[in-house]
Amino acid sequence: MKPFIPQLVYFEPEALNYPLGQELKQKFEKMNIEIRETTSHNQVRGIPGETELQRYRNAKSTLVVGIRRTLKFDTSKPSAEYAIPLATGCMGHCHYCYLQTTLGSKPYIRVYVNLDEIFSQAKKYIDERAPEITRFEAACTSDIVGIDHLTHSLKKAIEFIGATEYGRLRFVTKYEHVDHLLDAKHNGKTRFRFSVNSRYVIKHFEPGTSSFEARLEAARKVAHAGYPLGFIVAPIYMHDGWEEGYLELFERLSEQLAGVNTPDLTFELIQHRFTKPAKAVIQKRYPKTKLDLDESKRKYKWGRYGIGKYVYQDDDAKRLEETLKHYIAQFFPEAEIQYFT
Ligand code: SF4
Repeated sequence: MKPFIPQLVYFEPEALNYPLGQELKQKFEKMNIEIRETTSHNQVRGIPGETELQRYRNAKSTLVVGIRRTLKFDTSKPSAEYAIPLATGCMGHCHYCYLQTTLGSKPYIRVYVNLDEIFSQAKKYIDERAPEITRFEAACTSDIVGIDHLTHSLKKAIEFIGATEYGRLRFVTKYEHVDHLLDAKHNGKTRFRFSVNSRYVIKHFEPGTSSFEARLEAARKVAHAGYPLGFIVAPIYMHDGWEEGYLELFERLSEQLAGVNTPDLTFELIQHRFTKPAKAVIQKRYPKTKLDLDESKRKYKWGRYGIGKYVYQDDDAKRLEETLKHYIAQFFPEAEIQYFT
C-alpha cells in the first residue's frame, strides 16, 4: 500500500521553533496539503465532516504537529518499562483497536517535534535504573512505523537508543514502510515486531493497514538489516475455523521466513478483549463489524480505574493459549514466547 499522506495538517505555532517543525511545514507546503494553525494539539477544532462518523474518518487522515509538554512517560506493561511518546493516533481502521476509546474524541494523528526533550527524559529513566536494562515501547499510542516516513522521529529514537548502554527500544507495526529504517544505527538494541493474524482477522477487522504479505516482506528486510525480530499475534480471536486459521498463519510465517536469519525471534500473544465503553464506540464507528462483542460469552476481569474488560472464559483462553503455543513450538522451536495475556 502507499505510505500514509495526510489530507489536512495542523501546526501548533511553537512547533515551528524546532527544526523538525520547520522541515515538516516545508514538506507539506511542497505537497500542496492544506495547513492550518491550532493553539494546542489537545484541542483541534474544525476537522471537516457533517456527521460524527465523517469527522472521525477525516480525523484519521489529519496530522497535527505539536510539542509534547508532559514529559513524564507512562509505564508500559507487559513488554517494556516505559512508553516513549513520539506520536499519538493512527490512520488504520482496525475495528478492535483500543485507541478508539483511549483517544476518545481526538482520533487525529499527533506527532511531537521536541525530540531532544523527549530523548533527554528517556536518558533520565535509563540512568535511574542503570545497570538494569530499561525498555521503551514506541507503539503504545500509535502505529509509529506507518507515520515515520514523514518525520523520521522513530529513526532518531532508534539511533538514540542504539548509542546508549542500558536502553532498549521496541515497537509493533502493521505497516510495511520500513525502508528508511534499514540503515539506522540500531546496534541490536531495537526489537522490531510485526503484528500478524489469521486471514479472517486481517480481512474483516484490519482495513487501512498493510497486507500480511507486505508485512512479511518488511519483516525480511528488517531481519536482513540485523534488527532483533518479533511477532505479536493480537488480538487472538475465536472465529469460525480459528484453529485452521492460526495453523495456516504459522505455516505461512515459516514459509515466508525460510532462509532468513532470525536468531532470537520472539512471539507475544494477546487474546481479544474489550470494555463496555469500547463496545459502544466500535458499534458506532464500524456499525457493520463482524466483531463478536457478546459479553455473555466472555469472562469479566476487573481492571484499573474501575473499567473491567471482557476476556475469553478460562476454558477458551486455555485452548487459545495451548493451541498457539503448540503451533509456535512446531514451526519455530527456537523462538521465545514472551507472554500470553
Ligand atoms: S494499526 Fe494498530 S494502532 Fe492503527 S488502528 Fe490498527 S490496531 Fe490501532
